[in-house]
Amino acid sequence: MNNILWSYTIFNIYKLAEHPTQALVHDSSRLSELWNRRFAHLHYRALPALKQMVLGVSDLPNGHQGVCMGCSLGKNSKHSFPSSDSRSKGILDLVHSNVCGPMTVESLGRFLYFTTFIDDFSRETWIYFLKGKYELFSKLKKFKAQVENSTNRKIKVLRSDNGGEYNLKDFNNFYRSMGIKREFFVPYNPQQNGVVEWKNQSIIESTKALIHDQGIPMFLEAANTIVYVQNRCPHKAVKDKTTEEAFTGVKPNAGHLRIFGCPVYIHVPHEKRSKLDPSGQKGIFIRYSETLKGYQVYVLGHRQIDISREVSFDENVVFMRYHESPAGADVEE
Ligand SMILES: [Zn+2]
Repeated sequence: MNNILWSYTIFNIYKLAEHPTQALVHDSSRLSELWNRRFAHLHYRALPALKQMVLGVSDLPNGHQGVCMGCSLGKNSKHSFPSSDSRSKGILDLVHSNVCGPMTVESLGRFLYFTTFIDDFSRETWIYFLKGKYELFSKLKKFKAQVENSTNRKIKVLRSDNGGEYNLKDFNNFYRSMGIKREFFVPYNPQQNGVVEWKNQSIIESTKALIHDQGIPMFLEAANTIVYVQNRCPHKAVKDKTTEEAFTGVKPNAGHLRIFGCPVYIHVPHEKRSKLDPSGQKGIFIRYSETLKGYQVYVLGHRQIDISREVSFDENVVFMRYHESPAGADVEE
């Protein structure tokens, strides 16, 4: 692997300087900072409890030194919507949903919206990207098939706002034929929709933290990563466990989490390269792949996304960028 520092403008990447790879992230004083970033800027006070809630995470100290740019720029406001503590009695008894967008920047796949589905009992969350609101119906059908097949349970109630997109003829026929009860809430009414408003605000704040921390304006890709990571985080509604465990009954592993936007190298198999081609490609880690159990990597210079299990992460670069002045001074803003 080349021992090279890379820095980012929007999508332009240039070489800064050769630098010996150092095990900075193994320094115990940086452990909490490392896992704060891997857990998408989860509050430092929540980090020590992770050892009991997920597999693959060691003892983490409570507290840290210095200022984290992501936490400061993305998560410095208080949630204005209360998250309801009351819960339904079982998974899929009640599902909350809404749509966010359009975003000011398209995702790499040219998506402009995202929709979330939140299981009220576990607070487990699913996110799907949309090119327009016309795709919402197909995403609802996909979500329903996915969760009902994996749990052998049925969605009983779907609660959304009364925006036209949830109240079209296709939806009404679908609800009726599937025996799903509909409930509507009035937008911006925290008493009725605190769960979904709180979640949306949390996703947006954490997404801002990710993209500003690493200087990578991939809002939807970051939002997808946030939902994946937050499902493996503590949630006050499901006390002493993660939402993933509350939904599946299985303690999740978090040992594979890595810093969003960090430089990576992916292995290129023999059959996809000629003899003199390099055996790896440089890229940026942009999201987890749940279906193929790998990492999605934005391959530099190609505007393409590869999914790979064989990924070498260079998280040290993230720390060098902030903690070593000679390299930091050369980073283009
Ligand atoms: Zn942070």
